[in-house]
Amino acid sequence: MFESLSERLGGVFDRLTKQGALTEADVDTALREVRVALLEADVSLPVARDFIKAVKGKATGQAVTKSVTPGQQVVKIVHDELVRTLTGEGEPDALKIDNPPATILMVGLQGSGKTTTTAKLAKRLKEKNGKKVLLASLDTQRPAAMEQLAILAGQIGVDSLPIVKGESAVQIAKRAKMQANLGGYDVVFLDTAGRLHIDDVLMDEVQAVRDIAQPRETMLVVDGLTGQDAVNVATEFNAKVGISGVVLTRMDGDGRGGAALSMRAVTGKPIRFVGLGEKMDALDAFEPERIAGRILG
Ligand code: GDP
Repeated sequence: MFESLSERLGGVFDRLTKQGALTEADVDTALREVRVALLEADVSLPVARDFIKAVKGKATGQAVTKSVTPGQQVVKIVHDELVRTLTGEGEPDALKIDNPPATILMVGLQGSGKTTTTAKLAKRLKEKNGKKVLLASLDTQRPAAMEQLAILAGQIGVDSLPIVKGESAVQIAKRAKMQANLGGYDVVFLDTAGRLHIDDVLMDEVQAVRDIAQPRETMLVVDGLTGQDAVNVATEFNAKVGISGVVLTRMDGDGRGGAALSMRAVTGKPIRFVGLGEKMDALDAFEPERIAGRILG
């Protein structure tokens, strides 16, 4: 187990408790511990550095409240700054579906949980928002992945686009859009192919699909346990395809959630949902407070 930040700072500040305000030296000492905590939580180094700078400005000179220790006070400042960074300003509601049919493009690496997340989001839209949903798999290289999406669609009681052998991803995307229009669907999900690594073929295909599909949302699914890699994946997909939001999966595991902070800081795009298990209901709206608590330990 990691030592929590409160525990770390408690020790650091033991000898400083009589001071009336946080001096620069106190804050520097505390922020060294904060930096270690952030790095242990998988926040990337440049993001941790910028974050510390922002916190330093806010903490130095702050009067120490009588009811809390300086350590607790720094934890609070750090916590509030984490929540502020993780919360987007003026972001539209997650998956606001107006002017149907809306296309949601699902992108990400193979194994990130993209297909599972597609079905989870579809179930949510159906049950919480009463939407009529169509699912289409564009993974022409992996017939098993196409079948998996059809099976999940059956489980959650939504339609999936019939699989036609030999079609390209772009052809499937066109057919899905047509079907969405003809069938009176509110939402059509396009579950794009994943690869084990980002490569030009993958990106070219996703770009071609995006150009045809004109998605309302382009949702990047990333494995929350992959730490630094998650940040690289988000940066690449955002640069090449332009993402509108992120779903962080496997947050039921013991990942510390630092990837959320890094991705948010680096791409500027909101984390919209977190995956919390394999079951179809294991998806929560992203809550900055919860991730902040997790990063701090
Ligand atoms: P894809 O290749 O990106 O489409 O990945 P899949 O959707 O096939 O998921 C790969 C595996 O991860 C499956 O066994 C899923 O059940 C599992 N999975 C997906 N999301 C989560 C999650 O949030 N938590 C856990 N524990 N497992 C997940």
